[in-house]
Amino acid sequence: MARILFRNGSVFDGTGAPPAPADVVVEGGRIVDVAVGLDGDEDVDLGGRTLLPGLFDCHVHFTMSGELDLVKLMMRPFSLRYFEAVVNMEATLRTGITSVREAGGSDLGVKTAVSSRLARGPRMQISIVMLSQTGGHGDDTMPSGGCPFWQAPFPGNPKWSVDGPDEMRKQVRELVREGADVIKVATSGGVLSPRDDPRHGHFRDDELSVLVAEATAAGIYVMAHAQATEGIKAAIRNGIRSIEHGVYLDDEAISMMLERGTWLVPTLSAPRAVLAASEAGTRIEESVLQKAYDVLEVHIASFRRAVEAGVKVAMGTDSGVGPHGRNLDELALMVDNSAMSPLEAWVATTSAAAALCGVDDRLGSISPGKLADLTVIEGDPHDLDKLGERVWGVWKEGARVV
Ligand SMILES: [Zn+2]
Repeated sequence: MARILFRNGSVFDGTGAPPAPADVVVEGGRIVDVAVGLDGDEDVDLGGRTLLPGLFDCHVHFTMSGELDLVKLMMRPFSLRYFEAVVNMEATLRTGITSVREAGGSDLGVKTAVSSRLARGPRMQISIVMLSQTGGHGDDTMPSGGCPFWQAPFPGNPKWSVDGPDEMRKQVRELVREGADVIKVATSGGVLSPRDDPRHGHFRDDELSVLVAEATAAGIYVMAHAQATEGIKAAIRNGIRSIEHGVYLDDEAISMMLERGTWLVPTLSAPRAVLAASEAGTRIEESVLQKAYDVLEVHIASFRRAVEAGVKVAMGTDSGVGPHGRNLDELALMVDNSAMSPLEAWVATTSAAAALCGVDDRLGSISPGKLADLTVIEGDPHDLDKLGERVWGVWKEGARVV
């Protein structure tokens, strides 16, 4: 089997150690050696660039494409989303992201299209649909009573609405049957939903404890869209593994996260994407726009305090709310607005993200035995400016894909 030698570059191994000159040898899709002065059968001359582990985005929506105008969304044919997903997955791969958590929208068919190489994209853990209480973040019922067609269940995509522990048990079991790798739940309101409030906690403990018990029994974990302080605390208290967004964190929530080892996936890009779309002329409902403005500053302050306290952070963008392929802009936001250093932002995008997803035994760092998912960037990795334009090459299991 050919030994592929990556030489003449620096290696950021994902652990947080500063990048250092080293060669990497890949054989049979795996990393077999990392050291100075190695040899191989085929050469990849890195020309002084930096080799990183294949990057992660822990919060994407491939079947959403940044269209926030509800009327335009209603005028799109239903299945168009799957063709857009092909383009969105390609854009994500091209920016160096080889693994994602799909936070709602992609089902087993989308995942299978990639794993069977029918479509190109990152490997993914899918949640399929986000479970939500009636009137919660998953509920797009409009004040008129109108309800978008995408809210209806269809094969492979169970219903999203859940009220009460009994329904919760059944819905988690349905999602497991349909191939969910992770269960996503909304324990608070959110920005894009028309009728709820991001400061309100959703679901009660009797519902969330059943949810976590059923997911755990199926050997999978739970991620919570959680913006409200109460929703964040309920998620942590009931053993949910990651808090998505985490907008209204208080001291107690932060200490609970530290105690339980709960992850934070901040998605600082998400409210910015809503505001950017509005500035670009997209018609967005006034109440939604107001919510995006309301969360902006408090979100940053919460994130900074969580980082300073030592909460575990994994990178996620909520791409799909905004366009795909700009995922790496999130790293600059994490550094601009917090105590995070550039290397810590890279750790959040590599080994920490792999640990959150439970795949750190095979992905997220450059060391012998790991799968050869690799991303090469131009320039100084401490400089996070315009990272998306500096991706030089991407390998997935030892095969060059970009
Ligand atoms: Zn999301």
